[in-house]
Amino acid sequence: MIKLNNICKTYHAGGQPIKAADGISLEIADGEMVAVIGASGAGKSTVLKIIGLTEKPESGEYILDGKNVTECSDKKSALLRNEKISFIMQDFALINQFTVMENAELPLLLAKKKMPARLRRKKAEEALSAVGISELKDRKISELSGGQKQRVAIARALVSDADIILADEPTGALDSKTGAGIIELLRSLNEKGTTVIIVTHDMNIAAQCKRVIEIKDGKIANNA
Ligand code: ADP
Ligand code: MG
Repeated sequence: MIKLNNICKTYHAGGQPIKAADGISLEIADGEMVAVIGASGAGKSTVLKIIGLTEKPESGEYILDGKNVTECSDKKSALLRNEKISFIMQDFALINQFTVMENAELPLLLAKKKMPARLRRKKAEEALSAVGISELKDRKISELSGGQKQRVAIARALVSDADIILADEPTGALDSKTGAGIIELLRSLNEKGTTVIIVTHDMNIAAQCKRVIEIKDGKIANNA
């Protein structure tokens, strides 16, 4: 269960401070599939990063599975993320000098619970196959197109059997057919119990989610 209480986040980058999250309160129960929509710059990625423990709010409270994680250290946040959360970042956040396979395996390598190399490789291969890029496994990230990188980022999120998948515009760089396949994949994970939160501009994708949260100027404009 994800619970945000009155979360605020201001960015200070040179000129005027920007209030990217301005009193966000929401609850997302285990097993939900939720779309987060809103105009560019509305604060969608900021909210997702706070949920994904990669950004800290300056005020408000974040309760994850009954624990207050607002003040967690970076180290504790990384551990929690590895244990519970898979994040498909808008900018992919892949390691360019690593191969596709090495990137896909990474969450399993970093996990506290160690896994034999052969099993790690098998899981990564399955994830790459699920997103249709098995043939790219030995290529370096820096040699891939945007759409191929996006699929590696999705494969990496699939390997760790996380409780929560956060997907920030996961189909933005894909053609519509590949994108539909990815959403289908996320839906089937959701049917098996994974909580899925998708930031999207695409109303077709939002329509496939059970709930749509709209963000406007850092605030919740609609939560139905
Ligand atoms: P969205 O994902 O809805 O497009 P974001 O959450 O990325 O919106 O951004 C919300 C606002 O915060 C925007 O005005 C954006 O420019 C600003 N912002 C986001 N990240 C940063 C950052 N790291 N530094 C400065 N400003 C930022
Ligand atoms: Mg964004």
